[in-house]
Amino acid sequence: MADSVLDHERLTGLIAPDAKLRHLGGGASWSEGPVWLPTRRVLRWSDIPGNRILEIDPTSGQSSIYRTEVEFTNGRTLAADGSVIQCSHGRRAIERETDGEVTILVDSWDGRRLNSPNDVVVARDGSIWFTDPPYGIVQAHEGHPGEREYGGNFVFRFVPATGELHPVVTDMEEPNGLAFSPDESVLYISDTSSALRTDGTGNHHIRAYDVIGASCKNGRVFAVVEPGVPDGFRVDVDGNVWTSSADSVQVYSPNGQLLERIPVPEVVGNLCFGGPDGSELFIAASTSIYAISTLTRDATTGAASCAQ
Ligand code: MG
Repeated sequence: MADSVLDHERLTGLIAPDAKLRHLGGGASWSEGPVWLPTRRVLRWSDIPGNRILEIDPTSGQSSIYRTEVEFTNGRTLAADGSVIQCSHGRRAIERETDGEVTILVDSWDGRRLNSPNDVVVARDGSIWFTDPPYGIVQAHEGHPGEREYGGNFVFRFVPATGELHPVVTDMEEPNGLAFSPDESVLYISDTSSALRTDGTGNHHIRAYDVIGASCKNGRVFAVVEPGVPDGFRVDVDGNVWTSSADSVQVYSPNGQLLERIPVPEVVGNLCFGGPDGSELFIAASTSIYAISTLTRDATTGAASCAQ
């Protein structure tokens, strides 16, 4: 694929004027869950329908299959200790992966199984926040058919040290991606309930919640994203929200203004910052991984390790 040149008139200081979208590799069925692994300098991501985890070295362009038969992993992030925290549709669980060894952290709430955890972030206090929509139990190619045992689609906070799990958001239809503002005072969560519907109903927006201690209050719509849905997204050091959509990566200011649109030739599923100095944006889009150099980096402490 030829590199695409951005529309420079839309540049806002977030991307260098000569930045180009680069196609790094492909071969996946549906790409999700990208995370930069600073110690190995590779991008790891999920091919959900392929039921495998892939990796690519952005310098050499070399891609490889990391593991197969992985129980349909989806979103993932780095914990402070360097382990990978990831969602498994098949196990209906949040799991920790350290050097290829996988441990289930949590797979039930109040005696009932989770739906199919979709995306996950780790707060500075070590708590793990994740979304739990039904996509992995209602689509056979993304998990195992099953029932919604607790009857909702919640966002949860899990404390690994104590095993405590409690819902923090219960008023969204189908929560999907999530990320904190730089000071963790706001939690952004996308609702993608329009994704599987053909009648034009459902949500394709990102909501914002004030984080008060271990709970979320004052939920409101932050941005309505079109075309398609805002699946996964990240927040940069200045609080801008970089989100997926059907035709582009879209960047919203902290007050919800659309700042930038980076066209991508495939439907975007998720993205993350990484690379040697943390300023590379990696984009998981349908069959492929793309990259573009930015002038910013991820807001989170976990991604700060990208600079290593
Ligand atoms: Mg997702």
